[in-house]
Amino acid sequence: MERFAASPDSTTMKALILHQPGDIRLEDVAIPALHDGDLLVRVHSATTCGTDLKAYKRGHAQIPMPGGFGHEYSGTVTAVGSGAKYAVGQPIMGVHSAPCGECYWCQRGQENLCETIMASKVLGSFAEYLVVPKRIADKNVFEKPENISFDIASLLEPYSSVAQGILELRHVLRPDSSVLIIGPGAIGLLFVAALRQSGVNDITLAGRNQGRLRVGADFGARTVPVSEITVDRGFDIVIECTGQVEVWERSIDYVRRGGTLMLFGGCAGGTTVTYDTKRVHYDQVSIVSPFHFGTQAVQLARQWILDSKVDLGRLITSERRLEEGSKVFDDLDAGLGIKYVFHP
Ligand SMILES: [Zn+2]
Ligand SMILES: [Zn+2]
Repeated sequence: MERFAASPDSTTMKALILHQPGDIRLEDVAIPALHDGDLLVRVHSATTCGTDLKAYKRGHAQIPMPGGFGHEYSGTVTAVGSGAKYAVGQPIMGVHSAPCGECYWCQRGQENLCETIMASKVLGSFAEYLVVPKRIADKNVFEKPENISFDIASLLEPYSSVAQGILELRHVLRPDSSVLIIGPGAIGLLFVAALRQSGVNDITLAGRNQGRLRVGADFGARTVPVSEITVDRGFDIVIECTGQVEVWERSIDYVRRGGTLMLFGGCAGGTTVTYDTKRVHYDQVSIVSPFHFGTQAVQLARQWILDSKVDLGRLITSERRLEEGSKVFDDLDAGLGIKYVFHP
């Protein structure tokens, strides 16, 4: 156990704790101790995420309760365990997980499915401080350049998820691919941005929420209501970003013969979908459904942020205070805003 190299002002901090679905409380909790290689990060920006909303509404298998809430962040290193990769005072951007590099899945290039990636992730970025353990600090934390704002830097995690999706498509994605994205939430919009970064321009974004569709249009997508998606030949690639079972089922109708359907929005466990076998076999529609992300995706997302072709700041609706915890998620649940940011 390593003492702080430079202690924060106090031994406790304010943090949003999720006690059970619908029950978020702002509490004073102890700042955890640091071990070798760990970073104590003074959180500057922490953005809300669809996963947080799912946990708030119905609980989430990967989010223990009661427990720290929030996993997107950027900030400044304020103390380190011995041998840490970063120094006190360095601004950083990072994600909340890292693969072990040694298990069966890591050795087969599927770091996103690493046996211990979920168990070793860190939650609790809606707080004044976040301890980033050595494993994550060493592999998936980067220095934040000065020209990137803390708010934008906090988007590294959702963008990494999207980057994993783009990597999953790398053998079928071409500059002239026609891509349909269903669901204009933050992830759908990040897919528009990621496709632009990948040199793809024929992007259609379908959904209902006008404010979100407008952002998609500004990012370079053609936007349509879901009821008006036209299918002649079908799209080369369809990316489902709603996590709704009915949309999972319907989205295969929009894929061309020999095209790819990527089911990106996770549905609740135990739900089932049914597909016409003709579409899967005779029409040869490939179905992929990537989960989480490995180090390559994080590096790709970082590169996109450093060299962004769109204004990612459009994804952050406004700043909110930690005291408004429940209200923020009630608003998101009501379709108000895209992402909110805390500056704890
Ligand atoms: Zn997230
Ligand atoms: Zn592993």
